[in-house]
Amino acid sequence: MMIAHPGNEVRVLVRSRPTANFAQELIEYLPDGQTVSVHQRKDSRKGVVNNQLSSWSFRLDGVLHDVSQEEVYGRVGRGVVLGALEGYNGTVMCFGQTGAGKTYTMTGATENYKQRGIIPRALQEVFHEVEQRSDHAFSVHLSFLEIYNETLVDLLASVRGCPGVGPGGMAVVEEAGGGVSVRGLSLHPVHSEEEALNLLFEGEMNRIIGAHALNKNSSRSHCILTVHIESRSRTLSDAKYVTSKLNLVDLAGSERLGKTGSEGQVLKEAMYINKSLSFLEQAILALADRRRDHVPFRQTKLTHALKDSLGGNCNTVLVANIYGEASQIEETLSTLRFASRMKCVQMDPVVNEHTDPVLQVRKLEKEIQLLKQELSIHNTLANRMGMSYDTLSETQVAEIQSQVRRYLEGSLDEINIVSIRQIQEVFAQFKQAVQQQEQKVKAQLCQNYTLVEKAQSTAGSTAAKSQGSQGTVGVVEGHGFGVGLAVPSDRHIQLLSPGRTKAIKTKELASQGRKEAVEGRSPGPGKQVESVNPVQRDREGREHDPQSQEPQGPQEPLRTDSPPPKAEAFEDFKAERGSEINRILKENKVVLLERRARLRELTECVNAAKREIDSTSTALHQWRDKRQSQGQFVSAEGVPVLDEAELSLTLRLRELKTQYRQQYEELRGTKAEVSYCQHLVDQCRTRLLTEFESWYNESFLLPEEVQALLRSGGPIRPGLVPAYKALALEEDEQEHFERLRYELLADSPSAISFYNAQNRTVQRRNYSKAMSQTPVQKTTPRGSGRTKLPAILSVI
Ligand code: ADP
Ligand code: MG
Repeated sequence: MMIAHPGNEVRVLVRSRPTANFAQELIEYLPDGQTVSVHQRKDSRKGVVNNQLSSWSFRLDGVLHDVSQEEVYGRVGRGVVLGALEGYNGTVMCFGQTGAGKTYTMTGATENYKQRGIIPRALQEVFHEVEQRSDHAFSVHLSFLEIYNETLVDLLASVRGCPGVGPGGMAVVEEAGGGVSVRGLSLHPVHSEEEALNLLFEGEMNRIIGAHALNKNSSRSHCILTVHIESRSRTLSDAKYVTSKLNLVDLAGSERLGKTGSEGQVLKEAMYINKSLSFLEQAILALADRRRDHVPFRQTKLTHALKDSLGGNCNTVLVANIYGEASQIEETLSTLRFASRMKCVQMDPVVNEHTDPVLQVRKLEKEIQLLKQELSIHNTLANRMGMSYDTLSETQVAEIQSQVRRYLEGSLDEINIVSIRQIQEVFAQFKQAVQQQEQKVKAQLCQNYTLVEKAQSTAGSTAAKSQGSQGTVGVVEGHGFGVGLAVPSDRHIQLLSPGRTKAIKTKELASQGRKEAVEGRSPGPGKQVESVNPVQRDREGREHDPQSQEPQGPQEPLRTDSPPPKAEAFEDFKAERGSEINRILKENKVVLLERRARLRELTECVNAAKREIDSTSTALHQWRDKRQSQGQFVSAEGVPVLDEAELSLTLRLRELKTQYRQQYEELRGTKAEVSYCQHLVDQCRTRLLTEFESWYNESFLLPEEVQALLRSGGPIRPGLVPAYKALALEEDEQEHFERLRYELLADSPSAISFYNAQNRTVQRRNYSKAMSQTPVQKTTPRGSGRTKLPAILSVI
């Protein structure tokens, strides 16, 4: 038994028609039973007269010489037939010159049972197998197609009950899934070998009658008898079933055109035949070339109709019929050449498996029913009553929605899990809640931000000016910033905070103010005077706003590509978003400066008192020394007494010391206050800067950038942090070092050299010109050891 196995090549066998004049000297069958050698005498007509022989050798899958029809069926047909019963498409096809025995091979001698050909034997085998394979239900249909001069003819159209061809005529049509069918070709159900044979003979008869009627030679047409098989397993209640097509093809004679000097009808037939055979060859060769993904099946009706049954995923066996007489040697050679080319085609047969949708649904419904029963048993065992696994009702969905809402609000601690459907609905409700929240936030953002659409590029500044002149709410000047919206290339959508409108106005004033400060006032101590009333200055700045809404003179062009410089943005921020914290900062600074001034005053008083104490004390000592050298001054009773000058000095000294102590106490209190205020100022400043930084990032940096920065976990942007720190330093450097100096001097006078060194470094860096004065006085009390008074503090 020969079943084509996956990965095989198309099988090609040679069959020679028996003849008394077999050209033994020209055609040689080698003992391997597979090889045919052809020796051809050089054609004397072409001028070669030396009777030289040329030889060709063709190695095929088998040589059928003098073999019975039964053996031919066994070696050619059986494998393909059995494959078809398994679900593989298959084709048995005979080709060769007219009279070479193609019809004999396929159909055989209809009048002689023994000499019946492959088709009746195949039909017999099909029904024999159908009977044998009782575990499967088969349904078999027959169709019989003739292709004559590219016209499709239904050879079974005459059968009773045949629906006849529709209005569109017959045509090869492609089906979903890669198959083909012939529209209008009748399909006849057959239940037995006999029924099938009846149809075969009917078709053969029609072929002959048609040939007579149209004055055509029946060997000039291609004939395809197709057995359509469908099988379903009886044992498995499976929705799957397999189908196959078994094509038994008797091709038209392949003899070449030039030989007979054909003309008229014959010429036309020959042309069509040649064309279809040549396309058949092309199609089969294209199948052989695995690199080609297109096979030209549609070029002729023949190849198109055989599209799903040639090579590829089907079993294909070809019989090359030759007529072994010397006079036919050229046709024989041509047939053998064609045969050997066909041998290259690879087959990779695949079962045509389908799923019956109706059965599949029925099967799944059954399975669901079973699983529901299983579930209910499990629920009973687990004491869970009244469970339902059907789609949730509207009430149930509403209940879940309310649960989720209460859970989100915090009034419900947990949501009990009941079923998969319920879990899915809970998630769906969460999703809905998130989406609603998103909408809300978006709506809020839209309220807080004005959506401004304007032309980008060079038109930017002009557009801004004209917008500015409208003076309406939401009209924006200053730095635009993209928010990553997908917009047409020539347009740009900007989201600007309404605050920015004013903020950018005040920016000019603020920068002007800074300029004045730099030009007109000396930094350092002078800065105290300057910064005494920053709040007021800021207020003044705001009061100017309404006027500055009007465009006056050239304005800074709108920038849409990069964020504004940090220093400017910081000014804007202080005027707007950060105004409250900035105001507190400024107020704290004012208090701090006031306290510091008091501290300075007190320090001066204390120092002055100390100096006076020192000088008084020195004077007293000098007086006493002088007195001692002059002898003791005693009273009339002989008691030593103080003279008037000494008494006055002593009293003065006591008074001074009392004053000193009082002032010193106050100084300590004020110092604590300064330190406290300083702490507050520091806190405010940190908050201001932090809030500014996040505001700046939110407002100006692109989302990806922010994301990247957040991911890195590092500072906001390497280049930016120093910028704002410098900004902070620039403004508050002096305060910082002042504080440092106080701390150092108060806690450890020996730290003065450290302080001085640091101060010099700062001077070199030019961070603060104010510090260049280096106002430290090393005041050491004279006559130390005599007094327990603390060290004198320096006056700034
Ligand atoms: P084709 O269909 O190729 O034109 P046929 O099958 O009609 O050729 O064969 C032509 C003649 O040769 C027929 O009379 C047929 O009976 C006979 N014939 C062909 N092959 C054989 C064979 N193997 N054994 C006996 N007779 C044959
Ligand atoms: Mg024939």
